[in-house]
Amino acid sequence: MTTSINKTVLITGASSGIGEATVRELAATGARLFIGARRTDRLEALAEELGDNVAWRALDVTDAAAFAGFADAAQDRFGQVDTLINNAGIMPLSPMAALKQDEWTRMIDVNIHGVLNGIAAVLPRFVAQGSGHVVNVASIAAHVVLPSAAVYCATKHAVRAITEGLRQEHDEIRTTLISPGVVATELGHDITDPAIADALVGWRQKSLTPDAIARAVRFAVEQPDGVDVNEIIVRPTAAN
Ligand code: NDP
Repeated sequence: MTTSINKTVLITGASSGIGEATVRELAATGARLFIGARRTDRLEALAEELGDNVAWRALDVTDAAAFAGFADAAQDRFGQVDTLINNAGIMPLSPMAALKQDEWTRMIDVNIHGVLNGIAAVLPRFVAQGSGHVVNVASIAAHVVLPSAAVYCATKHAVRAITEGLRQEHDEIRTTLISPGVVATELGHDITDPAIADALVGWRQKSLTPDAIARAVRFAVEQPDGVDVNEIIVRPTAAN
């Protein structure tokens, strides 16, 4: 049975992978979706396919003013903002000794500042209305540290800390951390170290499809306002 969700949901990184799957999953519930990413051709096609309850706008999550404008545009389009899904992320893995400082900076900008910009764009609104929900897509990398993934893991540990801090400070706002294991998506397409790019192919031998994570997001979003699902960890099994 399809539960109906009477909420306006903002979703970042909606142009591929987990974000796109989440848009499809939530669209089926009747939720109003305002979706963002930089590849607007993909957003436009998705919105056109799914109908009037899905609207899109170009969004670079590293731009705080653009994120504020994104939330305002969602409010203008649908009259309210109930839920933010901070899903956008990048994973250009490399060993520390390679000193790919530009990649470290980009990861910190997208994976940490992007999440903070999203929270800043909705928090005053959520406080004023006395309710709201922030769903942050972290990773298993929020719990462990792996070689060649020190900075990526650091960004996801930060997302976990930020989510928990927000929860502690605001009991009128629901916070959810979604921590996926390996999922077959475009993540890592920008890995510049050939050995690590090869290794990623091996890791993906046993991986989830993005719809598995979308269902976890939906489970958290569709709970009543009095129920806060704080974290969901989803890993693949050998059946994949
Ligand atoms: P994809 O690469 O398929 O999707 C990443 C999304 O992030 C794209 O829609 C991309 O859109 C968007 N994005 C990247 N940079 C920016 C930016 N500056 N501004 C706005 N959007 C941006 O990967 P996934 O679907 O796998 O990744 C989604 C999330 O899931 C990430 O946070 C990732 O860390 C996390 N995750 C993924 C796992 C996996 O194995 N795949 C495992 C654990 C966590 P565009 O380029 O159009 O802007």
